[in-house]
Amino acid sequence: MKTMTGLVKEKPEKGDFVLRHDLPVPEPGDDEVLIKVHCTAICGTDMHIMEWDRWSQLRVKPPFIPGHETAGVIVKVGKNVTERKPGDRVACETHIPCGECWFCKNGMPHICSNVKLFGATENGAFAEYAKIRADSAYLLDDSISYENACLFEPLGAGVHGAEAAEVCGKTVLVSGCGPIGLTAVSACKTFGARMVIACDLNDERLAAALEMGADHIVNSGKEDLLKEVLKLTDGIGADAAIDITGSGAAIRAGLRCVRAAGVMVCVGLPTNEVSLDLTNDLIYREIKLTGISGRKIWETWYDFSKVMNGPYFRPEKIMGRKYALTDYKKAFEAVRAGVPGKMILYPDPADMDV
Ligand SMILES: [Zn+2]
Ligand SMILES: [Zn+2]
Repeated sequence: MKTMTGLVKEKPEKGDFVLRHDLPVPEPGDDEVLIKVHCTAICGTDMHIMEWDRWSQLRVKPPFIPGHETAGVIVKVGKNVTERKPGDRVACETHIPCGECWFCKNGMPHICSNVKLFGATENGAFAEYAKIRADSAYLLDDSISYENACLFEPLGAGVHGAEAAEVCGKTVLVSGCGPIGLTAVSACKTFGARMVIACDLNDERLAAALEMGADHIVNSGKEDLLKEVLKLTDGIGADAAIDITGSGAAIRAGLRCVRAAGVMVCVGLPTNEVSLDLTNDLIYREIKLTGISGRKIWETWYDFSKVMNGPYFRPEKIMGRKYALTDYKKAFEAVRAGVPGKMILYPDPADMDV
């Protein structure tokens, strides 16, 4: 049996991942591919799994290999696989749909009712090799580096938010300028938004939003957001708002910035229930309020490729530090310490310099 190095969540309790050198290299099933992992980014979900929060207790069953924001090269395919071949560079869609439920059969596999999760309910990619169903492996063209490919999964929600807001030709407010918000800003501009107003409480993040395509920035801790938006939109309000913050106050403020008959898309997840003045802020003004979940398979991925190759997206504003997989403790410490940007782990340290 061939073995590999990887991280394992060993027990159903609070505790760090454990580095193991004796894990079996997975054997791809008939419909699966085996990927030699180039790099895998750390996600908030991985931190939750270590903390063993409520979500983890309900969804995941240790022992398993975590890690899902990954890209690499296919080295082996199962016997039914015709659309992928060894040598293909791919990134992985975390939401593995069943293909059988009503949503899968009606073109909405991203909200499948029996969804499995790569790196949570299935073994993932904090390892030298990972296997996944061939139809969950997104083929990368050569213009996209493995590092940027790791961003599709975590930041795709920002692109999906811009898709749902149908921003072409519109004035758009984006609330929240962390990595997903910055991606939403650059997606809106790439998709032809007429004007993007970015809002946050942090001036550094707002400066990054300007570099990623925002036409105007508003620090809502210092300025009156509604007043600024009305000033910039001839007193009408924004055609669309996209909330990345998940903060009740920001959602309420964003809703009031949308013009009558406009649209608001919620991307950020509030921790608690949010109360809204539906009568005055939504119903009388005929606002459409919607949420998005993850990425559309594969529309969001195709669109994100265009965003990545477009003039606005700046991956260096989003990338954090690189670590060898065996140095994983330092990487997770950096995340806990709040070091900004995505931390990326490399099973083969030689890949870090390329
Ligand atoms: Zn993730
Ligand atoms: Zn399904």
